[in-house]
Amino acid sequence: MTTTSPAAPAPVLLLVPGATGAPADGGAPFHLADATVPQLSVTDLVATRGDGVFETIGAFDGEPVNVGPHLARLSRSAAQIELPAPDQAVLAEAVDAAIAAHQPVAELSVRVMLTRGIEGSGVPTCWIHARVSDDWSPFRAGMRVAVLDRGLSTTVTGTSPWLLPGAKTLSYAVNMAAVREAKRRGAADVLFLSSDGFVLEGPTSTLLVRRGEEFLTTPVSAGVLPGTSVKSLFTWLQQDGVTARDELMTAADVAGSDGAWLLSSTRLAAPITHLDEAELPVDPELTARFQTVLKGQA
Ligand code: PLP
Repeated sequence: MTTTSPAAPAPVLLLVPGATGAPADGGAPFHLADATVPQLSVTDLVATRGDGVFETIGAFDGEPVNVGPHLARLSRSAAQIELPAPDQAVLAEAVDAAIAAHQPVAELSVRVMLTRGIEGSGVPTCWIHARVSDDWSPFRAGMRVAVLDRGLSTTVTGTSPWLLPGAKTLSYAVNMAAVREAKRRGAADVLFLSSDGFVLEGPTSTLLVRRGEEFLTTPVSAGVLPGTSVKSLFTWLQQDGVTARDELMTAADVAGSDGAWLLSSTRLAAPITHLDEAELPVDPELTARFQTVLKGQA
């Protein structure tokens, strides 16, 4: 599902040369490049090995949301694969420049990509790509979700850190394969299950569950990505004195809850209408308030 048609505004590409330091020639720390012509080398290690990390930042009416937390997470992901990360202030400036260079639209998706670079060069590749977001409105209205086994235990962070739990790497082929499996099962998205029986996260989203007046999410220690969206919502809920906290939950806990959502920076809050065959309550008014918070417009 995409709104990018030939008539849609062209995406904007910013390249960050010598990604982890000042450009060797003392030139600008980033420059605009033509997003419609090839820019990436076939020997870049992200092309040959999926060796890199990334972030996707939502920008609403031209304003990017949670830039600091996204760039801090990029640094953490980069550290997990022993890749030096570029200066966050330079990247933040580049994100603003990419948005400013794009035609104004309601919803932009800004990707910050960092790879191990061309094989043998030792120089990371970094670029920022701003494009019109997909049309997420059907998901924001509610979606069916399939529970799929991820095959990893909630102890993965301690036992097997080389599996990169909680890192946002550019090896998302498994995540995309899971979404295709969900579609074969008549669902729109996935909730991953650990091998020890707990719900984790979606392939591109964080789980939020309502139980009475409490809101719950999966602990990051279980090997999920620390979501910027869930952090924003928790801060907003806690300001109103609402309890929002981590808890390991089973699929039955979610199926029997008072509502559940998958959260992410560009799709925002997508309510789960069915978890496999179990129907969940949906609260459109609360969901609409979540969208406002996640757009940074509360
Ligand atoms: N979990 C995974 C695996 C993701 O890929 C994402 C975002 O793409 C999220 C959670 C949600 O993170 P955020 O709310 O920071 O967009």
